[in-house]
Amino acid sequence: MFAQRLRFSIVLSFVVAGAILASATDSRAVDVGFATVDVTPKLEQGQPIWLAGLEKNRAATGVHDPLFARAVVLRDRGKKVALVSADSIGLPYPLVQSVRGKLKDFAYVLVAATHSHATPDVIGIWGPSDDKSGVVPAYVEQLEAGLVAAVRQADAASAPSAAEYGTAEDETLLGDFRLPEVYDGVLRILRFQRVGKKQPAGVVVQWNAHGIEPSNNPLVTRDFMGSMVDALEKRHGCPVIYFQGAIGGLMGTPKKLVEEAKAGRLPTEIFAFIDAVGAATADLADRALAAAQPIELSPMTVQTKQVLLPLDNPGFVQALAIGVLNRPAYEWTGDKYQRGDQVAPHAATGRMALETEVAYLQLGELAIAAIPGEIYPECVYGKYQDPIDPGADFLDAAPEPSIAETLPSSKMMVIGLANDEVGYIVPKRQWDVKPPHAYERESAQYGERNSVGPDTAGLILNALAERVADAQAKATDGK
Ligand SMILES: [Zn+2]
Repeated sequence: MFAQRLRFSIVLSFVVAGAILASATDSRAVDVGFATVDVTPKLEQGQPIWLAGLEKNRAATGVHDPLFARAVVLRDRGKKVALVSADSIGLPYPLVQSVRGKLKDFAYVLVAATHSHATPDVIGIWGPSDDKSGVVPAYVEQLEAGLVAAVRQADAASAPSAAEYGTAEDETLLGDFRLPEVYDGVLRILRFQRVGKKQPAGVVVQWNAHGIEPSNNPLVTRDFMGSMVDALEKRHGCPVIYFQGAIGGLMGTPKKLVEEAKAGRLPTEIFAFIDAVGAATADLADRALAAAQPIELSPMTVQTKQVLLPLDNPGFVQALAIGVLNRPAYEWTGDKYQRGDQVAPHAATGRMALETEVAYLQLGELAIAAIPGEIYPECVYGKYQDPIDPGADFLDAAPEPSIAETLPSSKMMVIGLANDEVGYIVPKRQWDVKPPHAYERESAQYGERNSVGPDTAGLILNALAERVADAQAKATDGK
């Protein structure tokens, strides 16, 4: 009798343990859905489509490969978060706000861009001439509708899925086109698996490189980012979304791959070369997938705040003044969270500011930094110049808080060009406009002239650290 009871209680405790195990496994499953919507511009409609990112006055003459808006929606306990990526040079904050206005049932919508330099100008500075915007309003409408549709379709497709997170590192797939040579060579990936199914539901990948950006190319293309996504979708039979990480300072195609092509080991025809780089990067993604481990993505917390950036770039001021850059400008108040009065840029006399957004997403164990531009890889792991090069402009500049030290989890993603494209986010210790120049160079390097100003990195990275602190304070309050 006693033995029987003992056996019964052992069996019962196994059943209870099994139930706990099962519920632990289930709790990993948030509802996840993916969707892809075509946002290729319609050419031959009387109005040229101006390609963004390189020189002005590049009218598209055709489409090499279609552009897409891709979304993943995560639902947990009635809360919905969307991460969207568009094949675009970069989406200005007002456009992102307009998209969110149509998705008010979402707790947060992150809208980012793959930064292909052969996509329509949606910012304005790549028009036919210095004083003419390259933005075609009909295309902006089409893109916005595509972004909203992608989120709606992903939401409708969502179903319980378990997540895995993995990384793989290979700096040799990156070229650094600005001194000092600093890389973030880590590719970060999420794979979702429907409960009870073998086929992945979708993959989210974050890598850190500009496209190949062939010069004299008049064709619309997603560049290697598209080739990589296509390769991964084919290999895994599921939707794949690409996000750009730290691509500033200045991450692009490694010379090694160009040399391989010259030596006949990779194709030299430009789109075949783009596909080869896409395939090599997809191989790195497969290494990250092979290393992926289960990750808990619940509960989901988002801390987001509007941040003002003082506008110290005369080129941007001029573009705003003539309306080529068309977004609100404010008086700079000296406080990154205090918006001044809106000003007419052509009549402004004082320092102006642009409004953008910095966000921190805590999805269970995963920490995501949403950075509104092209951040330098130096800022990811705090690999700042020390000591500062004597040729740099700010010899007493403090190092900005790095993303890795700020985020509370090493399971992280860095999403650049998130919710805005403010240009390069340059570590202040590296800012170098005035002679003498750093690294004993005769001239300044490329970067600063596409940056809002030398304080941008500090304001953005401190705003990120403050969002993380807010999330932690809220978590403590809740206990
Ligand atoms: Zn860029």
